Amino acid sequence: MQEKKHIAILGSTGSIGTQALDVIRQQPDHFVVEVLTSNNNADLLIRQAITFHPNAVVIVDVSKLDYVRQELSAYPVKVYGGEQALAEIVEMDSIDLVLTALVGYAGLKPTLNAIRAGKHIALANKETLVVAGELVTSLAKEKAVNIYPVDSEHSAIFQCLAGEWHNPIEKIYLTASGGPFRGRDKNFLSSVKKEQALKHPNWDMGAKITIDSASLMNKGLEMIEAKWLFNLKPSQIDVIVHPQSIVHSIVQFQDGSMKAQMGLPDMKLPIQYALAYPQRLKSEFPRFDFINYPSLTFEKPDPESFRNLSLAIHAMEKGGNLPCIVNAANEIAVAAFLKDQIGFLEMSELIEECMNRISFLAHPGYEDYVQTDAETRKMALELIPV
Ligand code: MG
Repeated sequence: MQEKKHIAILGSTGSIGTQALDVIRQQPDHFVVEVLTSNNNADLLIRQAITFHPNAVVIVDVSKLDYVRQELSAYPVKVYGGEQALAEIVEMDSIDLVLTALVGYAGLKPTLNAIRAGKHIALANKETLVVAGELVTSLAKEKAVNIYPVDSEHSAIFQCLAGEWHNPIEKIYLTASGGPFRGRDKNFLSSVKKEQALKHPNWDMGAKITIDSASLMNKGLEMIEAKWLFNLKPSQIDVIVHPQSIVHSIVQFQDGSMKAQMGLPDMKLPIQYALAYPQRLKSEFPRFDFINYPSLTFEKPDPESFRNLSLAIHAMEKGGNLPCIVNAANEIAVAAFLKDQIGFLEMSELIEECMNRISFLAHPGYEDYVQTDAETRKMALELIPV
């Protein structure tokens, strides 16, 4: 019997965080919850703390700190509040693995701190690598920290690479479901509402990533994420639309052979693989049945109608702080779309405008990313009609 892994979950009340706790609940012999954090969902954080007995919890919204302390006063759990506590909690000696399930740019600082503290990372926060991939991967290398992908496509690539570390990758295909608007043209997209965009055909996810999936920005961000995770050139990364979401991604090797990883679309599988690596733990997840899927189909993406994909590819190719600009502008654009302030296609216009206007830096450092992010958000907000 191996020792149990002590897990810190950053963002435990979100979609990935709650599914990770489902996995941990089903694998009590393998995992212990060490730390839980939430941005502002105090009630769920309290319930999770009572159920999973973490060593410590962090509520980022400090206005709720007293309430969380009060509710947990009868339990042996340390309660902290604020951004700084979130950034520092990952340094705790007792943590073996940090699952970064925060949404967006907010994941960057705690992830860098965790790597600096020598903690292995289960990465569900793709924006961290999109914004500062070079910085994050070089620091991980220096600290001998492993980054295990949680994103289903990247988990698929990672699983296909098991036993192939010495064999160069020719290219990878990231599969995309195509989202709720697959096959639609610009004319249709110009009038879609958030209610339609939030209905993903296959995956049950948080609001931000669901909008990103509908606009194909998610796939663009995943291309950048893959570039850093697997040390690839942009020309080695391709996207193929696969509406059934059964093939989670594909690696093509230099002999022309292709390996794909398959399974039902259920985030618990990649989460468990990242937490348990290198083991595959026995699970009760539903199994794929060929009878329910008589055909698996593949088609080309349409970057003309879904311009976010072209914008992200351009940022991936050019590098520097351009992916950081795309990410920040996109976070503002998605928030504005969710508030009915801009239309679906205007999200791309807003992002492109920011890409054109914010100064390009070829070799940014951490402070440059912080500044680029702040400048881009400010500009994007100013560009939104009031
Ligand atoms: Mg994904």
